[in-house]
Amino acid sequence: MQLYNTQTKTIDEFVPVNGNRINMYTCGPTVYHFAHIGNLRSYICEDVLEKFLRYAGYDVRRAMNITDVGHLTSDADTGEDKMLKGAKREHKTVMQIAQFYTDAFFEDCRKLNIKKPEIVVPATSIVDEFIRVIEVLIEKGYAYKAGPNVYFDTSKVENYYSLTGHDEDRLMVGVRDDVEEDTNKRNKSDFVLWFTQSKFEDQALKWDSPWGVGYPGWHIECSCISMKYLGEYLDIHCGGVDNIFPHHTNEIAQSEAYLGHKWCRHWFHVQHLNDNGSKMAKSTGNILTVSVLESKGYDPLVYRMFCLLSHYRKPLEFSYDVLDNVKNTYQKLLQRIANLKEEGEVNADQLAAYHQKFVDTVGYDLNTASGITLLYDMLKDEELNDATKLAIAEDYDKVLSLDLTKLRNQEEAAVDEDLKAYVEEKIAERKAAKKAKDFATADAIREELAAKGIRIKDTREGTIWEVM
Ligand code: AMP
Ligand code: ZN
Repeated sequence: MQLYNTQTKTIDEFVPVNGNRINMYTCGPTVYHFAHIGNLRSYICEDVLEKFLRYAGYDVRRAMNITDVGHLTSDADTGEDKMLKGAKREHKTVMQIAQFYTDAFFEDCRKLNIKKPEIVVPATSIVDEFIRVIEVLIEKGYAYKAGPNVYFDTSKVENYYSLTGHDEDRLMVGVRDDVEEDTNKRNKSDFVLWFTQSKFEDQALKWDSPWGVGYPGWHIECSCISMKYLGEYLDIHCGGVDNIFPHHTNEIAQSEAYLGHKWCRHWFHVQHLNDNGSKMAKSTGNILTVSVLESKGYDPLVYRMFCLLSHYRKPLEFSYDVLDNVKNTYQKLLQRIANLKEEGEVNADQLAAYHQKFVDTVGYDLNTASGITLLYDMLKDEELNDATKLAIAEDYDKVLSLDLTKLRNQEEAAVDEDLKAYVEEKIAERKAAKKAKDFATADAIREELAAKGIRIKDTREGTIWEVM
């Protein structure tokens, strides 16, 4: 697969460290609010990437965190803990909020056919591990205690800005919203690993640590969860583009300082979904959710298709007009697949050739839109019989996850129900005829069913039937 790498800023051949095995990490949601469809754009693209890698023959192991502590209202270590803010808003405890929005997130994922990663780890479940890694960072001279907090010393790492390619002044204090200068820091770009004091005194979740009772910073959680569950070498790390700085930049600094070698080879970032020209964001409260789309009559998979029709590296503007078009397109596509006849044998060579075409097409920087075009071309291909077309559509759906045979299956189920009712009625009529010793009618019914491809058999348990 060829895939754009934020680290090298080029489309690189994707080569896993470990032969066929890919270790993949995804930054999970901060569970203080419903995920909006912008967040879910990132998770849809990451899901397609994982499924495509499996489709191309790799064995993928994927981990994701659930941020239930330490993510402050500003990414630059200031402001209130987002979880606490959510708890206050809803008059609940932080853990109640975390559980509720974690469940809501996975329910949205289910509706959008986003597969749950095998490994899902709430940050609050492995605080001991954060403490252990921070202790090592202090021992190695990469971290220091100053005032109430423990900081990472960014001057100790080479090329701190390698992921962004930006220089310090463009990104630091004063240019980002909400950022205040912290006089305890040795360098402007240092960041907090462990807080023991916050100006928001009612921080709900706190743990004992060698530096006092407190709570971890947000960045350390992803480094620790990834290293603990996926090992020292990560093949691919995913997230939305807003995570590039400071979050992923800090993850690289910490992880490589701890490990003493390069950590992650490939960085995959999804561009934002915008609404009226600006990024959809939970913090503004002005968000669209899967439930809102459902309440307006959209199948969540229409939104999945909306995302797959654009490239993950291009910003995507949300609009109901475009969503309506996609809704139409999606319905027609399902109908077209439902109309394929149950005829002929699947041609294995043609199926393999189309599988390879999909690998080549989508495998160039995850070009899902071209994958969908290929699906349409395939449906038009006169060389293919219907059985082969259906098999190829099912094959592509392993990656697209659009439930392409949904309508077909519904129609088949409806046909099955009608058939069952008809045959059972005929069997009852035949039973009554036999009872009345009207064997001519009983035989005629058997023949009528046989003419429709139904074979009946009298057993001790009664009459059974099957489609011939
Ligand atoms: P959060 O729950 O805020 O931690 O974000 C969860 C994921 O959604 C992260 O990977 C973010 O980078 C991503 N994200 C946030 N806003 C958007 C957006 N408007 N469009 C696409 N992805 C986003
Ligand atoms: Zn993360």
